[in-house]
Amino acid sequence: MTEIAGMLDTGIARSRALLPSPPSYWSYSSLKEIEACPRRFALARATYPDLWDGRGYPSLPSTRALFGDVVHSTLEVVVKALAEAGVESPQAVEATMVLRDLGGITAVVEEVVTKQLAPLEGNPRVDLDRHRRIARELRAQIPDARVQVQTYLSRTVLVPRPSASSDMRDGSAAARGGQPTRRALGKGSHAEAVLVADELRLLGRVDLLTISGVSVDIVDYKTGVEAPGHHEQLRLYALLWDADRQANPARLPAASLTVAYRDRDVDVPVPSSADLDALRVAVSALIEYADVELKSTLPTPLPSPANCERCAVRHLCAAYWDESTQELTAIGDGEWFDYEGKIGKQNGQRSWWVIDPETGIQRLLLRTTSATPPFATGDHVRLLGLRHELDPETNAPVALLTAASEVFQVVSS
Ligand code: SF4
Repeated sequence: MTEIAGMLDTGIARSRALLPSPPSYWSYSSLKEIEACPRRFALARATYPDLWDGRGYPSLPSTRALFGDVVHSTLEVVVKALAEAGVESPQAVEATMVLRDLGGITAVVEEVVTKQLAPLEGNPRVDLDRHRRIARELRAQIPDARVQVQTYLSRTVLVPRPSASSDMRDGSAAARGGQPTRRALGKGSHAEAVLVADELRLLGRVDLLTISGVSVDIVDYKTGVEAPGHHEQLRLYALLWDADRQANPARLPAASLTVAYRDRDVDVPVPSSADLDALRVAVSALIEYADVELKSTLPTPLPSPANCERCAVRHLCAAYWDESTQELTAIGDGEWFDYEGKIGKQNGQRSWWVIDPETGIQRLLLRTTSATPPFATGDHVRLLGLRHELDPETNAPVALLTAASEVFQVVSS
C-alpha cells in the first residue's frame, strides 16, 4: 500500500482510497469497529472515486443481514408511529387504527424491503444475478419478518406522551450535524431517541426510551443472536442519557436497561454513578485512540482469523495477504478460503491453473461455474470465497469459484 497525493493506493484496480478524518461525534458501533481493527474501519469508510459515487467501500450484502435490518427498520417505523400516537400498547384498540393508517405491518415490511434493495442497484459488488437472488430470497421472507415484528411488539410497553412533541426530530437533526434546537424529553415513550454527550463527542440512537415519572427505561431491539457487546451498548446508552444535558436536564437516572431479542428480554444491570464515571473515562480514552488512528497516514491493521474472516475489505488489506491467509495444505475439503495468484494456462473448458506470481509454479487448479469467468490468463488476482474441493484424480489443490465468490485484479504490489 502506498500513499500518492493524499490518496492511498490499495494495489487493487479502481480502488484508490481517500481515507476518512475523525468524525465530529462517535457512536458505539463506530468505536467498537475501530477498536477491533482501525485499518478495516478506515478502508470501509474511505472514499473510492474510481469505483463509485457511494459512501465508503461498497458492502457485500447477505440476505441474512438484510433480513435482520428489515425486521429492525420495520420495528422502528411501527414503534415510532405507536409512540407518537400516544398508544399504550401495540395490543390496544387505538394501535389497530395506527397500524391501519400504516397499511398494516406487512405493507411496512414490503416498503422496508424495497428500500433495503434499492442501494444494491448501484453497488459495484452486486451483479445482476446476485441482486436477483437476494431480492428473491428477501421477498420470500416477508411473512417471517412480519411474524418477528409482531413477536417484538407483543412485549413492548409504551407510555403515552401528554402532547405531540417534536423533540425526537430535533435530536435527529443533531445527529446529522445540523443546527438543531434540541429539547428536554418529556414524559412518555420516545422511539429512536437521539442522545448526545457533547463533552465526549459521543452520540447514540436509542430504539425506545420511556420516561414515566422519575423512572427512565431504555430498550434496544436486537435481531441477531445474544452477545455481550449488547450489554455494553446499553451501558453506554445509560452514560449518554446521564451526560445529555439537553435531553435530560434534570439528570433523571436510568431505571432499567433491556435488550429485546426475538424470543426474550434480557435485563442489563444499570450502572452505578461510579460505574458511569469509569465508563466515561474508558470511552474518552477509546475516542482519543480512535482519533489518533484516523489522523495517521495508514491506520493500524489488526489481523486475526476472527477479525479477517468476514472482513468486507480484506482484498484491499496488505496485512491480511501477508499474514493471515491460510496455506493451501491447511484447507480441508468443502472449506471456504481466499487465495492470491496469477491466472496461468487454461486446463479445461472451465478450469485454469493459478500460479505463484514470483516463481510461475502451478499452485491451484481453479474450476469455475461459467465458461467466461471474470479473469484472463496473465491476470494477477485476489480470489475471495473459493470452495476447496477434493479431487483424487488431480495432483494439486482444487478450488471452485462459485456464484458467491469474488475476483479482484491486483494492479500493483
Ligand atoms: S483483513 Fe483483517 S487486518 Fe485487514 S482490515 Fe480486515 S480485519 Fe483488519
